Amino acid sequence: MTKCIICKKTPQGSNVLTDEHIFPEFIGGNLKKKNVCSSCNSNMGADFEGRLENGFLFSLFSYQAKVVKKSGLAKSPFVGDYKAGGKTFEVDEDFNYKLKFTGFEESRSSDGSTSFSMSIDEEDFGRAESLIVKKLARRLKKQGKNVDENKLRMHVNNLIEDGYKVESLKPELQRRFYIDRRFLSDLKLLALKVMFESMHYFGCIPNDSKVLKKSRASLQKKNIDPFLEDKVFICDKDDFFVEKYLPLYTSYMICLGGYCYLKIADWYLLIILDYEIPSLYFILANLKEGDVSGDVIELINFLRGDYLKKFEYSYMPPKFHD
Ligand SMILES: [Zn+2]
Repeated sequence: MTKCIICKKTPQGSNVLTDEHIFPEFIGGNLKKKNVCSSCNSNMGADFEGRLENGFLFSLFSYQAKVVKKSGLAKSPFVGDYKAGGKTFEVDEDFNYKLKFTGFEESRSSDGSTSFSMSIDEEDFGRAESLIVKKLARRLKKQGKNVDENKLRMHVNNLIEDGYKVESLKPELQRRFYIDRRFLSDLKLLALKVMFESMHYFGCIPNDSKVLKKSRASLQKKNIDPFLEDKVFICDKDDFFVEKYLPLYTSYMICLGGYCYLKIADWYLLIILDYEIPSLYFILANLKEGDVSGDVIELINFLRGDYLKKFEYSYMPPKFHD
């Protein structure tokens, strides 16, 4: 295949077909196929995929699932600066926090004297002296004065000893997040993308499927086509979902009859197709090429034994031909 499955063009020049993750890498997707051009790939990445990846909910998922991305192990979405009681705190990977050193506050009184104050974490207290000395020395030099840094250091040291106040601060960490209309529509677009790319992966693409055509158009426009509005749903966890047989944090897609069920990170989605899938297809996000893990076999056995007696089934191992 030389054409991009999204824009249907043959990539030219610096635009080439790239390894496309069927399930995105940020939820632990491993399975790749070279059938999307770099332009389409980065268009989607800069749009709904990027918003989901960098949003709080998916960041939290990647962190909990210990997803290894190109940039390394997914970082905690709680890392960052927080304000509490007029002070700024830095929170690290392990939820430790410390007062962030934000600089000096300076006030000048009418008699010409200047007072400085600053907030500094106990941990950084050793730095306080040199920070103040540096700042004062720079100021005095600017005023054309000779500065004896050792003397200055001594003064500053005395001032600190006399003047510091220890406060015990126990801020509470809170993060607000919103599930808005855009998040839900981004999530549905991602589900359409996983479904669309999986169908290509399995080679299960009838020419007359309007759902597939409109899915492609939606991905290209990064907007869900109105035709698909009542064909993609975010749903509750269903008994059908067999995740008790799967490792935690596994995303997957199961296609059966005219339906595609997807679990994407913590979300369950259903896509109603307009054609019947001849076999049972399922795909795990973290499968690698040629890899059928024990969990998959367990899943097949489960489906065979309990669920699919009335369906004709067969397991399609991942195909890697065009
Ligand atoms: Zn393309």
